[in-house]
Amino acid sequence: LPEVCGKEIPSRSKFVGKRLCQREPGHNGVCVEFPFLREFNLQHPAVADKIKRDSIMTTGAAWKSADAGPNRILRWVMLMPDDELKQLGIDMANLKPQVQAKLRDKAASYDACMAVAKKLTWLAYQMPDAPEPGDELKKYLESDFGVMHAGSTKCIVCRLPVSFRLFELAVRGKAAIETGHSNPRAHNPENVGFVHRECNIAQGNKSLDEFYHWIKDIVRRIGD
Ligand SMILES: [Zn+2]
Ligand SMILES: [Zn+2]
Repeated sequence: LPEVCGKEIPSRSKFVGKRLCQREPGHNGVCVEFPFLREFNLQHPAVADKIKRDSIMTTGAAWKSADAGPNRILRWVMLMPDDELKQLGIDMANLKPQVQAKLRDKAASYDACMAVAKKLTWLAYQMPDAPEPGDELKKYLESDFGVMHAGSTKCIVCRLPVSFRLFELAVRGKAAIETGHSNPRAHNPENVGFVHRECNIAQGNKSLDEFYHWIKDIVRRIGD
């Protein structure tokens, strides 16, 4: 992947680790962590927020409890050893083993999270009905992930197109479109994409390979 400016962006919290400028090396003006989300920030702030959140935060339980563990936490924080997490108020030893494992599965480095944010932005601009990125932004995203084809983004589970309009559609308070993983245990740009909510629910904790085999077996048994 191409180089970025990489200067540290001052942060209010001492727990989040270094946050780095993702603008091009030697740029003019201030350092920015999510320069590729600037246009969405202005036109579609909810989409910008979603890409940011899904890239850098874990999705935990919808509630916060001693059993469920922390609700949402920066993914790279989950790379820290248990004793450092305890200082942040996350007592891994007190969580059920399956909750611990789930949290550790969501861990990802800062660099991986930023690459995921860029990949999701690249994919969002290629959804049917998506706005067009400005020339500079298009160049920035294409230098990371290749030439963009308008309307080409598909749900990574069912392979049907996912319209940009789905971002605005919520069913019973739940977003119609979610960020999915081909392998739910790896958070990196090769492994993420957008999915329909119902496709994400169907896939569950399975990898796509496991999921398709599972479905094929069911369909075969029904056909017998
Ligand atoms: Zn910078
Ligand atoms: Zn789908």
